[in-house]
Amino acid sequence: MTRIPHFQPALAGPSDAEVEAARAVIAAREAALEQQARDTLVQCTSQIATGKGCGGFSRIGDLTFIQTHFYIEPHGCTGGDYWRQGEGRFICPHCGHVNRLYDSPEVTKLKPAFKAVEDRHDD
Ligand SMILES: [Zn+2]
Repeated sequence: MTRIPHFQPALAGPSDAEVEAARAVIAAREAALEQQARDTLVQCTSQIATGKGCGGFSRIGDLTFIQTHFYIEPHGCTGGDYWRQGEGRFICPHCGHVNRLYDSPEVTKLKPAFKAVEDRHDD
């Protein structure tokens, strides 16, 4: 076996130090975005489905995100039953009102920033 000689040109572009600095900038940005998500305030809101909310504000990082699931019946000969992810909810710590997030995709997107996620399969 004879190895093929190869001749690589000098690496163009940013230096190792510049790449390292850029990584640090990106990490700092990600940390800031996570902090911003945790510090986002949501308002306890009156909804037709749930009744009156108190109007109080809560920090997402202090709340539990309740993830609902609903049951899909088996169908045909091959379709098994399964659970499908439903809406998110949070309980207002000021008044205990259940706030439903079915119409709030911006808040639902912040699910990872909540203090905890609780999966429910009961309703
Ligand atoms: Zn409330």
